Amino acid sequence: MIACSQCDLLMEYPRLAPGETAQCPRCGYAITSRAVEAMDRLISMSITGLLLLVFASAFPFLGYNTSGQEKQITLLQTTSTLWENNYPELAVLTAIFIILAPAAFLSSLLYLLLHLRRGVVPWGAKTICKWMFHLVPWAMAEVFFLGVLVSLIKVAAMATVEPGLSLWAFVFFCLVFPAVLTITDRYQLWFWIEHGYRPHSHG
Ligand SMILES: [Zn+2]
Repeated sequence: MIACSQCDLLMEYPRLAPGETAQCPRCGYAITSRAVEAMDRLISMSITGLLLLVFASAFPFLGYNTSGQEKQITLLQTTSTLWENNYPELAVLTAIFIILAPAAFLSSLLYLLLHLRRGVVPWGAKTICKWMFHLVPWAMAEVFFLGVLVSLIKVAAMATVEPGLSLWAFVFFCLVFPAVLTITDRYQLWFWIEHGYRPHSHG
């Protein structure tokens, strides 16, 4: 049984064929949907997202030039710089928003999917499936990115700013991650955990 998150109507979990969406019979809210080839798409997009995140952390995020002094900063240094400038809470939150929460979500999703795809329900599957969705509101990479853009415009007036390789990786990450969230259906995931995953069939 699942409940409509809009009107609380209880209903039997609908068995969906790929491409189908179930709507609440009372209020019409889209309860759950099964994307076509959702499993493979989700796996490849989660891997892409994780790789982009690693890439975004590994290379210079920004380079800037003030009065002949060239400096480079990495994505992780943006958080450690906050820490060093006596904003420890902000540093921790930024690290959670931009790296920890999305990385934890994507790793959990991959861990579940890679097992389920082989017909195995992995250890801790139900607990992970419950908790990973609590991370979603904390994954605010785009918010951070907007902040970066705003400060860039300010800094650009004082210094020459060069976007680094990481910045581009992060831009792509900000596109891929919301897309993963959009096609991740928690009821579908739960259904696969409880009843097993069968490609190209109902349910
Ligand atoms: Zn409803």
